[in-house]
Amino acid sequence: MIVYRTKNDLALHLDAIRDSGKSIGLVPTMGALHRGHTSLVEKAAGENEALVVSIFVNPTQFNDPVDLEKYPRTLDLDLEMLQSMNVDIVFVPSVKEMYPEEDNRTFDLGNLDKVLEGEQRTGHFNGVAQIVSKLFEAVKPTRAYFGQKDFQQLVIIRRLVKLLNLGLTIVACPIIREEDGLAMSSRNVRLSKEERNLAPFIHITLKLAREKSGTLSPAEIKSWVTSQFENQPLMNLEYFEIVEDKDLKPVAEWGDKVNIVFCIAVQFGEVRIIDNLIFD
Ligand code: AMP
Repeated sequence: MIVYRTKNDLALHLDAIRDSGKSIGLVPTMGALHRGHTSLVEKAAGENEALVVSIFVNPTQFNDPVDLEKYPRTLDLDLEMLQSMNVDIVFVPSVKEMYPEEDNRTFDLGNLDKVLEGEQRTGHFNGVAQIVSKLFEAVKPTRAYFGQKDFQQLVIIRRLVKLLNLGLTIVACPIIREEDGLAMSSRNVRLSKEERNLAPFIHITLKLAREKSGTLSPAEIKSWVTSQFENQPLMNLEYFEIVEDKDLKPVAEWGDKVNIVFCIAVQFGEVRIIDNLIFD
């Protein structure tokens, strides 16, 4: 496994691979790797002749400086994990390497970055678009892999690829959960023991809400979910929205909508948890 710190060194290696006609998969991460990440790595390894995993905690997507400071960083363990999975290339740039100067680009993401997470975290998705476009430029992958855990991010990356006219395929990967249903996330380690025990409530509530979609309207489901969280004094429900998967438009009536996503964000102690449930 080779660990590259600079775009130039990485490009030299990747140019040779590309010149020989081989496909390149990219898995962008912010490290503190868990099984959610490794599921992306496994899928990418199976579908490409070469694989790059990037580890970079991107400052421009953090709207909260405390969150950036406390974001878990476990580089040595991450590299061990990737080595044991036979990953051949890891890209671990510094902030200076990715942002030699301030990035003032703004991306026209339509309404996609104004709703849900975008409404709560101003500038977050513009920061995501900045770093992902830089990683795509540095790696020029054939395919890039993103988790449905960050559903809105996935929709936005697809839009970004169209916007920038990049000829690459975005591959969506299913959410990996703990046994009790909590979606895996690097931030989960910051939950206290009590919070960790209560956290599966979020996924359980999403599943119950889905069951109720047979008999209740979207508005009724929203108020039912809201009432469930009123009984959970430690959890602050930031939003629960029912949206269409392609454009994140709110669903007012079930009608003939085919792919629907329940999206939720909960502030839980120091940690913000996001989750979703996609169904047709
Ligand atoms: P992050 O390191 O949190 O930026 O995540 C890197 C990639 O892993 C993103 O595409 C995430 O959507 C994906 N990911 C994170 N957690 C999970 C999970 N529990 N299941 C599937 N994918 C995940």
